[in-house]
Amino acid sequence: MKVIAAVKRVVDYNVKVRVKSDQTGVDIGNVKMSINPFDEIAVEAATRMKEAGIASEVVAVSCGTTQSQETLRTALAIGADRAVLVDTDAELQPLAVAKLLKAVVDKEQPDLVILGKQAIDDDAGQTGQLLAALLDWPQATFASHIEVSEGWATVTREVDGGQEVISLKLPAIVTTDLRLNEPRYVTLPNIMKAKKKPLDVLTAAALNVDPSPRLKTLRVEEPAARKPGVIVPDVAALLAKLKSRTAPPHSCM
Ligand code: AMP
Repeated sequence: MKVIAAVKRVVDYNVKVRVKSDQTGVDIGNVKMSINPFDEIAVEAATRMKEAGIASEVVAVSCGTTQSQETLRTALAIGADRAVLVDTDAELQPLAVAKLLKAVVDKEQPDLVILGKQAIDDDAGQTGQLLAALLDWPQATFASHIEVSEGWATVTREVDGGQEVISLKLPAIVTTDLRLNEPRYVTLPNIMKAKKKPLDVLTAAALNVDPSPRLKTLRVEEPAARKPGVIVPDVAALLAKLKSRTAPPHSCM
């Protein structure tokens, strides 16, 4: 069974991002970039399948600029066998990524594609679902457990009320949730080994995909600053404040 893990290069989750002064986006100059955390979980899941003898090959795929090769090397150090970069300078939105990934899937013919449930930069949470629609494959999103046997995947999904278990006929798309696994610590020998693993570079033009954005960002703003709190003298005053507090319109839990 061949597994593709989709990995995106994003601003590291520890970085506090700042909005550019002209409000056209977030300033990513000189900030630490890393593999999207949910994609690290996807690569770990695929690697565990390989180690368990369920997968025969794990291919990490990223779409983005040349720097995304670093992200692919991280995936190779976790355990992917080889990597594919779709090299493009275009501003990539989920539909464009899904089209590029579909073209790679058509070429590679994997049995399973694992993506993150969301990229922590755009928080779109769309690419896996769009890819499943373009391929017309079954999908299981927000996976917290995956078992593969005899051409079927049984996936436990994190849903509002608890967990849902579904069976999918392969080939299929799965997106990872946080509880699926805890990715391994990448060791120095594995980082060295990853440098020698194959990394192929394709272009959007070679895949016959136009990655131009469909949506235009009008303005990016910092979230409103939190209002300062008040110190109440005692519990009675706190209760009085809580009782008199009116819920904001359309509040949700
Ligand atoms: P999103 O829909 O942007 O929140 O992304 C969901 C998932 O799609 C990510 O966790 C990745 O697995 C995959 N993905 C998004 N953008 C890319 C990209 N440029 N290259 C490879 N995979 C991507």
